[in-house]
Amino acid sequence: MIRVAIANQKGGVGKTTTAINVATALAATGWKTLLLDLDPQGNASTGLGLPSSARERSSYDILVDQAPVESCIVPSQIPNLDIIPATVDLSGAEVELVGADDRAHRLSKALRSDFGYDICLVDCPPSLGLLTLNALTAADTLLVPLQCEFFALEGLSQLLQTVERVQQRFNPELGIIGIALTMFDRRNRLTDQVSEDVRSCLGKLVFETTIPRNVRLSEAPSHGLPALIYDHACAGSRAYMALARELIARLPEKRKAA
Ligand code: ADP
Ligand code: MG
Repeated sequence: MIRVAIANQKGGVGKTTTAINVATALAATGWKTLLLDLDPQGNASTGLGLPSSARERSSYDILVDQAPVESCIVPSQIPNLDIIPATVDLSGAEVELVGADDRAHRLSKALRSDFGYDICLVDCPPSLGLLTLNALTAADTLLVPLQCEFFALEGLSQLLQTVERVQQRFNPELGIIGIALTMFDRRNRLTDQVSEDVRSCLGKLVFETTIPRNVRLSEAPSHGLPALIYDHACAGSRAYMALARELIARLPEKRKAA
């Protein structure tokens, strides 16, 4: 199983939208996919139509109580896609784990087995706190959604510093699979300029696929569906299919751990 953290400490940059739709695209391609919601807001869980009643056990139980991972997995409505939901309890995890020596490694320990999955995507909260640290320590690689806006590159350098720190202290194997430009608006000269700057600065690290600003992508979660199911032909869905293809091409061959 390949573990991919989807992280960026800024909120509203498209992490959850990317997690849901890339997970759906991978599942549609036949990959056994696990989406782990690590944001106390639980947007990935809600966006996949998971009612609160289906969140009896969650990523909180894995981190804080070290509950068996299998006991926290629930199926989604999409074949090949299961989810570990998040609840608001998770916002207290940081404080509850403060005395635990292994607090940065809880997720990494939990995800050591592959549970029959080819890939696990971890949707991170908008901070560089303990939850994201757990995701980066557990991950083989990191996918960064980056919104095409003025301060994008500054936020990115802070994230890359964190990645270096994690590589030095917790997870020397952590890679960066790519940066996905999100919410691109062709008519807006600024987003165009930012996208050009990011590409010239970071080169091949940036995925060729750019995710456009697309209203169908923002409507889909309120229907409890990935955009790829809600409207598979919209520009946003097509972009996420292309991004998933690029991601697959970049992933190492260790898909099947068994
Ligand atoms: P994050 O998880 O980084 O906080 P989200 O994926 O939740 O970001 O996106 C923030 C908001 O923007 C959500 O309301 C989402 O539906 C919307 N959104 C995300 N990507 C796009 C896009 N490409 N086009 C239009 N709206 C988007
Ligand atoms: Mg989110």
